[in-house]
Amino acid sequence: MLVVMKHNATDQDIKRVVDVVGDMGYEARPIPGGQRTAVGILGNDGRVDSARLEGMEGVLEVIPVTHPYKQVSREWREENTVVALANGTKVGGSDVVVMAGPCAVENESQIMDIAHQMRDLGATVLRGGAFKPRTSPYSFQGLGLRGLELLAKAREASGLAIVTEALDPEGAEAVADFADVVQIGARNMQNYALLRRAGRLGKPVLLKRGMSATIDELLLAAEYILAEGNEKVILCERGVRSFDTHTRNLLDLTAIPVVKALSHLPIIADPSHGTGLRAKVTPMARAAVAAGADGIIVEVHPDPARALSDGAQSLYPEQFAELMEQIRVIARAIGREVAAPLPAVAQG
Ligand code: PEP
Ligand code: MN
Repeated sequence: MLVVMKHNATDQDIKRVVDVVGDMGYEARPIPGGQRTAVGILGNDGRVDSARLEGMEGVLEVIPVTHPYKQVSREWREENTVVALANGTKVGGSDVVVMAGPCAVENESQIMDIAHQMRDLGATVLRGGAFKPRTSPYSFQGLGLRGLELLAKAREASGLAIVTEALDPEGAEAVADFADVVQIGARNMQNYALLRRAGRLGKPVLLKRGMSATIDELLLAAEYILAEGNEKVILCERGVRSFDTHTRNLLDLTAIPVVKALSHLPIIADPSHGTGLRAKVTPMARAAVAAGADGIIVEVHPDPARALSDGAQSLYPEQFAELMEQIRVIARAIGREVAAPLPAVAQG
C-alpha cells in the first residue's frame, strides 16, 4: 500500500504519516519523487486502516499495490531508478551503458590488455568473472581472490568500473570489497540467501534473469534485494531456455519493454549468453538497444580461440569496435546516447 502525499505536503505532514504507520505496527518507507513524496507501507497484512491515513493532513490518496512485488514496481516509484557507479557511469538514465570484457579473468596480461581496449573503444564498465559458475565441476572455475585483485588493478589503470559475480552468500562480501557492481548470475537468481546478502552489501547489484525464470520471478528476486534496503539494482535479460538448438538460449527482448512498464529498475541485455554464438551477438546487441535496454553486457576476449570459458560467444576486439559504432547510431535514433567514453587516465 502506498500513501501518496500532495505536492505541497510539508515534512511535518510526511513525518506524521510515517509515525502513524509505525503506530499501526508496520514499517513506513518514504519515497521522495520529482513531483511529490509517497510513503510505502511494508509488512501490510491486509489490515491497514486506509481511512485513518486518507484523512490526514497532506495526504492525496492511499492506493493498493496490486503486484506481488512492491518496492520494485512502478506503482511504488513512478520515476526510473538511476544506479550511479563509482566512476560516474549512470545506469537507467538517458545513456546506454556498455559493460564489456572477458567471461573470466584468466591472467594479468589478458585482463589489463582487454581493459585498455574496452576503455579506448568506449565501454565504461569492465566485466570479468573471478568466481565462475560452470556447468561442469571440471571446467575452469575462475582465479578467485586473485581474479578480484587483478580486476582492481585493471580498474585503477583504466578508470572502468568493475562488474563481477558473487557465487554464494559467504563470498559476497569479499566480492563487494573489490567490485563496483556485484553480479548475481542466472543460476543464482533464486538463491534467496545470496539475494538477501546482496541487499546488505551497500553496492549496486546486477541481477541476471534465471534461465527458466518468468519476468515476475525476476522482479520478485529483485524485491528480496530492495527489501533489505538496497535499491541499487540493475536487471539483466540474458536469455531463457527454449526448444531451439541453433542458439544457446532464447534472448527474450520482449522482457525489456515488459519490465520497463512494470518496474522502475534499469534493465540491460546480455547478447553473449543470450545467443552463445559470436556471429549473433552484434545483431542482438543492436536489437536490445533498439528495444530500450539501458545497456548491454558483452563478452570480448583478446584471443577468443584460447579463452578458458565462453570463447565461442566472445567477440574479437575489432568486432566490438564495430558493435559500438552501430549502437551509437541506434541509440541516437531513439533519442538516447551511448554513455560518453571515460576521460583519459594519466599514465604514471
Ligand atoms: C556471466 O555473465 O559470466 C554468466 C555466467 O552469465 P549467466 O549467469 O547469465 O549465465
Ligand atoms: Mn560467460
